[in-house]
Amino acid sequence: MDILKEVSGAKTIGIGGHIRPDGDCIGSAMGLYLYLLKVCPGADIQVFLEEPAEIFKCISKIEAIRTDFETNIEQFDVFIALDTTKDRLGKAEKYFDDAPKKINIDHHVSNSGCGDVNYIIPQASSTCELIYDLIQDKKQMDEEIAKAIYIGMVHDTGVFQYSNTSPSTLRAAGELISYGFDFPKLIDETFYEKSYVQNQILGRALLESIVFMNGKCIVSMVDKKTMNFYQAKPHDLEGIVNQLRNTKGVECAIFMYQIDTLEYKVSLRSNGKVNVERVASFFGGGGHERASGVTMRGTFHDIVNNLSAQIAAQLKETAQRK
Ligand code: 5GP
Ligand code: MN
Repeated sequence: MDILKEVSGAKTIGIGGHIRPDGDCIGSAMGLYLYLLKVCPGADIQVFLEEPAEIFKCISKIEAIRTDFETNIEQFDVFIALDTTKDRLGKAEKYFDDAPKKINIDHHVSNSGCGDVNYIIPQASSTCELIYDLIQDKKQMDEEIAKAIYIGMVHDTGVFQYSNTSPSTLRAAGELISYGFDFPKLIDETFYEKSYVQNQILGRALLESIVFMNGKCIVSMVDKKTMNFYQAKPHDLEGIVNQLRNTKGVECAIFMYQIDTLEYKVSLRSNGKVNVERVASFFGGGGHERASGVTMRGTFHDIVNNLSAQIAAQLKETAQRK
């Protein structure tokens, strides 16, 4: 895809990403925004995302994000959906629907493309890596764009450790750090550093976790009461599922937090034997083979039972294939 060609002539450009935006979603939206500001000087460009976590305040012009989803523009000439399908654009979905030209850029296998122009590359580590590839004229790259894109790559690859990290991911990252931002500090402050409250909840979640299926699965849950007690927001719970997955012997980790009565946001992580994208898709969610998510209704036990059945079936399949 030639992004410059796709947006050429557009007077108004909208950019959106998924609800509860993570590092890749915010990094790709801001990286693309900062780039388009340079290459489309006459255009009115607006970014719509839910409130980014405090850690992303280091990204240049982050305050330009319209977290209230308000706009003076009736219809965007082009609307770009990043890191998601249109159904998870939240309040920006209407802008996407109304735009005469819709562009979808994503790396989720579960996304078959919802735009007029689609750039969906499941092998890519992150949507940020795709934005890096789309900025073909590297003379337009600068420190601020590089930093935004780098943050997303770091977050979606777990600091270049997960299996989605490829030689081209590392080549791109290598190129990006040559722009001179303080990358060790950036990794520490946006990825590893946790607030006291975040660590307390992580501790509780680990303490209350349960292993089952002979230690192949682990589950933990944080209810609404606990979240309220710690005044924790959903993004304060990021990383808990990865810590669960690090348990020796575990093939599949499940972490969920309550969003309403009988409603939970579920995160799934795999160590390779279980394709958690298939598990999440079965219940209406999606993601990647080793990291996926879904919102499910029911009691904690019902949800665990339903997920377990799918996970067990896959583990049985893998065992039989051997
Ligand atoms: P997380 O567990 O960190 O929320 O998400 C893991 C991966 O699954 C991310 O790539 C995320 O975009 C995707 N994901 C999480 N929740 C959902 C969901 O409800 N629907 C879909 N389609 N993808 C999800
Ligand atoms: Mn992503």
